[in-house]
Amino acid sequence: MAKAAAQDNTLAKYTNGSFKPVIDKCEGCERIIDVESAKYCKAYSLPEAKWRLGICNFATHAKPEIVVATIKVNPLKASKRASGKKKK
Ligand code: SF4
Repeated sequence: MAKAAAQDNTLAKYTNGSFKPVIDKCEGCERIIDVESAKYCKAYSLPEAKWRLGICNFATHAKPEIVVATIKVNPLKASKRASGKKKK
């Protein structure tokens, strides 16, 4: 009985206005919770803001693409640089 009331209080935080519904980009994320026929994020109260600057860092369905750049290092210059640091 008390457990059900506690769960109702937990779900009430989504409907009292402090949590905003998820946006289209959130579709497929495992953190979405259905409360009274609306979808909310369990991890963040304002999903739209999480996507404003790129991919949401909490998203389970989208990962940022990591670009690995190869840098050519001249071994002679690297050696000089390394030896220059030791002199101090
Ligand atoms: S974790 Fe990010 S992508 Fe997932 S529902 Fe929340 S705001 Fe949307």
